[in-house]
Amino acid sequence: MEFISQFKKTFTSGKTRSVEWRHGQLLALKQMLEENEKSIYQALHDDLGKCEFESHISEYAFVLKDIALFLKKTKTWAKTRNVSTPLLLQPGHSKITPEPLGTVLIMGAWNYPLQLVLSPLVAALAAGNCVVLKPSELSVATSKLLAELVPKYLDKSAVAVYEGDVAATTELLKQRFDHIMYTGSEAVGKIVMRAASEYLTPVTLELGGKSPCIVDNNTNLKVTAARIIWGKFINAGQTCIAPDYILVTPLMREPLIKALQQALIKQFGRDPKQSEDYGRIINDRHFQRISGYLKENEERLIIGGQTDKKTKYIAPTLIFNPELTSPIMEEEIFGPLLPIIEIASMDKAIQFINDREKPLALYLFSNDDLTIKMVKNETSSGTLSINDTLTFMLNSDFPFGGVGHSGMGSYHGKWGFDTFSHFKPILHKSFFADMPMRYAPYSNWKQKIFKFLAKF
Ligand code: NAD
Repeated sequence: MEFISQFKKTFTSGKTRSVEWRHGQLLALKQMLEENEKSIYQALHDDLGKCEFESHISEYAFVLKDIALFLKKTKTWAKTRNVSTPLLLQPGHSKITPEPLGTVLIMGAWNYPLQLVLSPLVAALAAGNCVVLKPSELSVATSKLLAELVPKYLDKSAVAVYEGDVAATTELLKQRFDHIMYTGSEAVGKIVMRAASEYLTPVTLELGGKSPCIVDNNTNLKVTAARIIWGKFINAGQTCIAPDYILVTPLMREPLIKALQQALIKQFGRDPKQSEDYGRIINDRHFQRISGYLKENEERLIIGGQTDKKTKYIAPTLIFNPELTSPIMEEEIFGPLLPIIEIASMDKAIQFINDREKPLALYLFSNDDLTIKMVKNETSSGTLSINDTLTFMLNSDFPFGGVGHSGMGSYHGKWGFDTFSHFKPILHKSFFADMPMRYAPYSNWKQKIFKFLAKF
């Protein structure tokens, strides 16, 4: 792949290291977004039936906000900083300099097809790298649009969009990169990691899994329901951090179900198919997969369950107590079905979560300090979000990423800059005062002085 050898030349030329080049690329990306806002909304609508507001907040404005932050901070983050120098290394200077890695590969998933490639791109460019973008082939329209726009606006000698299916991606993964950031499923994450191991390429894996949502007895039910419905059914449930299922006590079950039903009708109407704000399923394969979960749980439906194969519509659906060993509870749902599981107590809820893989996000709705403390201290997840869903993504001071099976590494804000940088320590010693103690023969007096000086 010729463009990869070209990128190596660009990188070794030093061009991408200058802060001016990085700023220039970020400004060009900003211009690309602003001049093509409508086409971006259209592509996202074509791929996922996303309404403009949803596309705006979760994709378009999200990336613009990232660009603004990096334009403001890159110069500071890219600076070499002094660190202290121990007595043994005196006279000398110690510094740490962030250096770009080289050529990085960014592979995105289809559910937020713009944000998931452009947000890492912002961080990788700001860190001074050459970048190959691989958008998901499932979000056809957005992938095509990116392939058309990126070369028009960004430096072609350092940034490229590579489109293609599994076979093409397999070829791409045979190339040598300096870092790979992959967003997608656990299964493909393993393939990516295996391919990366060939050259010992470091990877950041942004994966998924089941993100549980605990509703405590002591909570503001109306707001809880509204926030769960919003976080679950935005993008028709195709969000990696969407609440996958709810855990609730028998006492709260009925009031919660009632509040969820009310919130659902309030947000999407009695027939969500008519709502302009409700999305569609990405493709037939995923439509069939989610419809399969529905079929297995026909008798457990609380509300929803309607589908339309032609338009890939699946209604927002609440399901009560599915079998814990059935696919809907063993696989990530990644669609608009929300199981509600009755659980005896908060202790049992914690045990339920700890019996499974560590989630990307864990949600807790509670007004009780003790419960909050317990969940915080006794569970592990990529992020813990108390009393809200999804919005933690808006805090660019937070690292975004998983733990255990939900992923490795992180990005967003400075965390993204760090992911795409190597922090190189530089020790600069003076030739003056060359201490003889370290050289053999190691006499007693030398050892004594050395041990004493090493304390400082
Ligand atoms: P996908 O099918 O679009 O795959 C993602 C990327 O992997 C694409 O670029 C695709 O070309 C490539 N790919 C697919 N199969 C491959 C193979 N066999 N070999 C090499 N490359 C291959 O996306 P997906 O996997 O369906 O994504 C859904 C998953 O992603 C869910 O689990 C979701 O939770 C997770 N996700 C995570 C995040 C996050 O930020 N942590 C964000 C979005 C989605």
